[in-house]
Amino acid sequence: MKTDVLIVGCGVSGLYCALNLPSDKKIIIVTKNKATKSDSFLAQGGICVLRDERDYDSFYEDTMRAGHYENNPDSVEIMIRSSKEIIADLVSFGVNFEKNGEKFNYTREGAHSRPRILFHEDETGKEITSHLLDEATRRRNITLIENFTMVDLVCENNVCRGIIGHDENGEYKSIVANFTVLATGGIGGLFEHSTNYRHLTGDALALALKHNIKLRDINYIQIHPTTLYCKNSGREFLISESVRGEGAILLNSKGERFVNELLPRDVVANAIFDEMKKEGTQHVWLSFAPIPEDEIKTHFPNILEHCLKEGYDVTKEPIPVVPSQHYFMGGIDVDRYSKTSMKRLYAVGETSCNGVHGKNRLASNSLLESLVFAKRAARDIISNYSTLKSNEEVNVNAFDYDGYEQEYKNAVLTAIEEENKKDE
Ligand SMILES: Cc1cc2nc3c(=O)[nH]c(=O)nc-3n(C[C@H](O)[C@H](O)[C@H](O)COP(=O)(O)OP(=O)(O)OC[C@H]3O[C@@H](n4cnc5c(N)ncnc54)[C@H](O)[C@@H]3O)c2cc1C
Repeated sequence: MKTDVLIVGCGVSGLYCALNLPSDKKIIIVTKNKATKSDSFLAQGGICVLRDERDYDSFYEDTMRAGHYENNPDSVEIMIRSSKEIIADLVSFGVNFEKNGEKFNYTREGAHSRPRILFHEDETGKEITSHLLDEATRRRNITLIENFTMVDLVCENNVCRGIIGHDENGEYKSIVANFTVLATGGIGGLFEHSTNYRHLTGDALALALKHNIKLRDINYIQIHPTTLYCKNSGREFLISESVRGEGAILLNSKGERFVNELLPRDVVANAIFDEMKKEGTQHVWLSFAPIPEDEIKTHFPNILEHCLKEGYDVTKEPIPVVPSQHYFMGGIDVDRYSKTSMKRLYAVGETSCNGVHGKNRLASNSLLESLVFAKRAARDIISNYSTLKSNEEVNVNAFDYDGYEQEYKNAVLTAIEEENKKDE
């Protein structure tokens, strides 16, 4: 197959990049699973926005403090300054954020100094991503291929010319492109307990390691403090931080509070691990008691329903919670236009690292960051189109990918371990 732009992954970052490319460019988007099976669909809490100029310093400081001041200040500034434009785009695609009359309703999450998060019930990700997906499906220049797994890059002399992948029948195909965008999401599938989809196994990182593409901060992995405790491993159900933002409290087995629930995620997760160790328990408890029942029903209907299915009524009793792997701050190193160290190759969303989040991501900054830098990638692709030579030859090498899945997973896990050792 041949195309102008190839995008690997159809979460918010991949879709929004496609939607920001001109209609005269042929775009192929491939995804390893069904189009609706991305972490973007799972996002609960919301998306940050700069409410007004008076909030700039505080939004900036909250992001930097949560990231232990290891953030890239330039990326943080770009993200915050672009946020209003992104929200306006989303609204133009039909995304419906909670309102109070004509005005947006803002919620708050841990480590935010004030409410600045737009939301749609507790399914903000589904609301945003389904609208982007609908729009992408409507556009005639965009072809979406489901159940197609990228297994390698087609590249020569540090120039990317597309990918090799297999379809659901295991048949290998190459897709040649002028520009390739990696939008493959996080790495939760490498962990026993994670809130991520199991098929998100850091494939783009494995390929970056294979082809010497620069990576950054790959041992910066976020553990979310509150996922519903259950005995079986697999995808864990997230109890959004906005629940604590609205007043829910953490309790130990004696019913005592042991931490300020609104501290940054890593601090709260560590306090929970310490408490579990001290008490010899498998989990702690989260009580919704301070939140009025009406608000639980309107703001958190899916959390309420899911917990009921698991046998807990959050309006009447605390629920058992435990920290789980949740987000990947590190990734493929990119510049302010989402360009990787390989020519004609971009990376956007959770698989990339532009340094916005530093060592720990502030709640609800991920959807925003993914969208902001996906749009910048699209803009950069457009401005670089004129530099291409026509009639270039592309060599797709013969390949043998037997056992690649385990090999790729091991490569990423080993690289993370090595990075951890360096930091110790
Ligand atoms: C439970 C949960 C709640 C969250 N809540 C929030 C929130 O409230 N606010 C917020 O800002 N962030 C939140 N996040 C984080 C946020 O949802 C993600 O960081 C963001 O959606 C990532 O988008 P993405 O486009 O990078 O990747 P994803 O949406 O994960 O998409 C990745 C895509 O890549 C495809 N893919 C992967 N590997 C391959 C391959 N080898 N070949 C082909 N395709 C491949 C996948 O199939 C998928 O389509 C949450 C995350 C989770 C898991």
